[in-house]
Amino acid sequence: MVNAFSKTALESEPDLAGRQDHNGITFADVNAFQPAVLKGDQQNSLQLVAAGGEVPKTKTVYVDIGHCTSGERNPLGVGGSDQGFAGPGYSECDINKAVGKELMKELKNMGLYVVPTWDVNNPPPPVPKSQDLDRRIDTVNRDVAKYGDDAVYVSIHHDSDTTKQGGQCVFYAATKREESQVLARSIQANAWQVREREGVKDCINPDTATGKGYLDGLRRTNAIGVLIEGANVQNPRDRALMPQSRFQQLEAKGIAQGIFNYFNLRPGQERPYSSAIRQRFGL
Ligand SMILES: [Zn+2]
Repeated sequence: MVNAFSKTALESEPDLAGRQDHNGITFADVNAFQPAVLKGDQQNSLQLVAAGGEVPKTKTVYVDIGHCTSGERNPLGVGGSDQGFAGPGYSECDINKAVGKELMKELKNMGLYVVPTWDVNNPPPPVPKSQDLDRRIDTVNRDVAKYGDDAVYVSIHHDSDTTKQGGQCVFYAATKREESQVLARSIQANAWQVREREGVKDCINPDTATGKGYLDGLRRTNAIGVLIEGANVQNPRDRALMPQSRFQQLEAKGIAQGIFNYFNLRPGQERPYSSAIRQRFGL
C-alpha cells in the first residue's frame, strides 16, 4: 500500500483524456498511469514503511525549483531568461514551479519543514547563472549550518531527453553515493512512473553520468540530495501530461512520499537538539 495515494488525488478531476487544450495538445489519460510497481529486489526494507507512518520530527526538506531565476528578467516580468527547455506552450520553468509548489504543499501536510532555495512568489533579482547557483547553494548551507543535518535537498527539473523515453529519473552526487542512493531509491519506488533506461536500473544515475560530469547543486550542498527529472518533454505522452495540474499533483505526491519514507528509514539518533532546532520545531 505504499502507493495508496495513486487514485485519490485524481478522482475529483474531470476526465480530460482525449480532449485538446488551447495549444492543441491532446490530453493523455492520466488515470491510466499508476505509480511504479515494485518488483524483484526493489521490494526491500524501503517498502516496509507504511505510507501512513509516524510524522518525522525535526526534518527539513530543501526544495530547489530548477531554472527560472538567472539571467535578465524577461519582458513579461516573470522569471529570468533561463527557462530550461521550451515545450509546446510551456517552459521547463513553468512545470518545475507548478510541481515544486505542489511538492512543498505535500511535504508541509506530512509535517516536514520546507525551505525553498528561492521564493516562487517573490523571485530574487536575476543574476548570471553561476551566481544564481551559488545563491541557491548558500541558502541551503546557511540553513544547514544553523539547524543541523536532519535534512535533504531535492532539485526539481523536467527533462528534454532525446531517447524519448517517458517517466522519472533521478541523479545523485557520486561523492555522496551511499546515502544519496537510499534517498534516490525511496523516491523512485514511489515515482508516478520510472523511466525505462537501458543499463540504468530504476533510472537512478550518479551525476558523473551527466554531460557535465558533476552537478554542483548536489555536491556543494551540505545535505544528502537528489536532482529529479520528473518527466521528459521529448516523449509525446509526457509532453501532454506535464501541463496538467492533476499530473503535477501525482508527480509531486510520489516525490513527497519517497522523501517521507526516506526519513522514516533514517529516524536519526535521539540527541540533545540545539536551541535553534528546538525553536524551529517547537520542541
Ligand atoms: Zn532543468
